Amino acid sequence: MLRVAVVGSGPSGCYTAQSLIQRDPEVHVDVLDRLPCPYGLVRYGVAPDHEKIKSLQGSLRTVLEHERVRFLGGVRVGGPGGLPVEHLRGLYHAVVYCVGAATDRRLGIPGEELPGSWSATEFVSWYSAHPDAADAGFLRGVRSAVVIGVGNVAVDVTRMLVRGAAELRPTDIPQAALDTLAASGLTEVQMAGRRGPAQARFTTKELRELGGLPGTEVTVDPAELALDPADPGALPAGPRRNVEVLRDWAARPATPAARRIRLRFFLRPVELLAEGGRVAAVRFERTAPDGAGGVTGTGRYEDVPAQLVLRSVGYRGVPLEGLPFDPASGTIPHREGRVLRDGVPSPGEYVAGWIKRGPTGVIGTNRPCAKETVTSLLADAPALGRADVPADPVEALRAAGVAPVSWDGWLAIERAEAELGARLGRGVVKLADWDTLLGAARVP
Ligand SMILES: Cc1cc2nc3c(=O)[nH]c(=O)nc-3n(C[C@H](O)[C@H](O)[C@H](O)COP(=O)(O)OP(=O)(O)OC[C@H]3O[C@@H](n4cnc5c(N)ncnc54)[C@H](O)[C@@H]3O)c2cc1C
Repeated sequence: MLRVAVVGSGPSGCYTAQSLIQRDPEVHVDVLDRLPCPYGLVRYGVAPDHEKIKSLQGSLRTVLEHERVRFLGGVRVGGPGGLPVEHLRGLYHAVVYCVGAATDRRLGIPGEELPGSWSATEFVSWYSAHPDAADAGFLRGVRSAVVIGVGNVAVDVTRMLVRGAAELRPTDIPQAALDTLAASGLTEVQMAGRRGPAQARFTTKELRELGGLPGTEVTVDPAELALDPADPGALPAGPRRNVEVLRDWAARPATPAARRIRLRFFLRPVELLAEGGRVAAVRFERTAPDGAGGVTGTGRYEDVPAQLVLRSVGYRGVPLEGLPFDPASGTIPHREGRVLRDGVPSPGEYVAGWIKRGPTGVIGTNRPCAKETVTSLLADAPALGRADVPADPVEALRAAGVAPVSWDGWLAIERAEAELGARLGRGVVKLADWDTLLGAARVP
């Protein structure tokens, strides 16, 4: 009987566990996560007002509740204070790393570190109640914001910035974030991409949603749309629909609204400008199509005032101590899911999800990705199964000073979140800090 550890309980970890139990009638899987709560970015990334996508947690839950799967929360693998990779490897026949891509990509421009300039990751973590997130006073004194990037995460943070209390109250957003967003004096968000509308990475569904937000007007500058040389008729379906939506908005007469979202194109950030030690504006260079599908600088600049700048130009994996890492792609090198050490498959070590293929695709993309890895693992199983491993790795973990949060502990957190919501006259409300989460998990 094979014992497998899956590190990370996000979509790729859960799909890996699911594929293993579906295809091997005897395998036992422990799903470890450094957080006491499961589901990775489905809990800590997907925006709270996207309840339908959030409800995917229900199908991940059935995997973690399977009789041959155990959730072991609060177990960090690698890094300071974490369980060393070599130690974990000795406790199981195989280990699958599904640790995601935890950090943001940098712009690499002056002023990026100014107070008031944050990565979208930091802002998302805050409104998602990630226990590592700090309340950085994101919206203090903010009247206008700039979101740099034109992907779905940029759309998420733009939408969250303008959402009102009535729309957020029914979600599980933590109370402090709800109060801050509800009280904010922000009136304008400009979301900017360095290329044209045809190259924007947001999906049409997410884009359209911006047009239906109560009390918010969306504007697009027809001159910026006109710069795009792409013939919409020749574009693939997704970009074509995006361009159609943007053209509709550009043609609409302006209407007064409490808040405004401006979608901007052909603007490359070159510097964040300060006033009184905080960010006050973003200096953009205007770009123009270079005729080869890219853009080139024009030497003309525009300063856009902003007391809050959110950078949303992609995610990156971080190295996990004890495992190989390719800094160029931000992933763990692999062949069909088998971890490569010095170019050679390392017995019993596998990867799946964002740390395997980089931060692209939707939640469902992680399912075939996990399946490929499990196919490799099961092909290796006859050799792996010969290793001598402890009958119960949890005993060995405890002996190594690790006290995992069990599934019952997670259920206790869920109850505490429901109770908090009831006290506040809301539905479920997320707990936002380590002490409260771990305290709740210990309640029998
Ligand atoms: C802000 C944001 C919003 C998104 N919204 C959507 C959406 O609406 N729809 C959609 O389809 N997709 C969305 N995505 C994409 C989707 O979330 C990803 O495809 C998916 O989460 C990737 O799965 P993963 O399991 O590889 O990583 P993750 O979901 O990041 O899971 C990784 C897990 O590993 C754990 N972990 C990390 N390091 C360690 C360690 N050292 N030891 C132990 N555990 C560790 C983490 O705590 C985490 O639980 C969004 C992504 C982001 C960033």
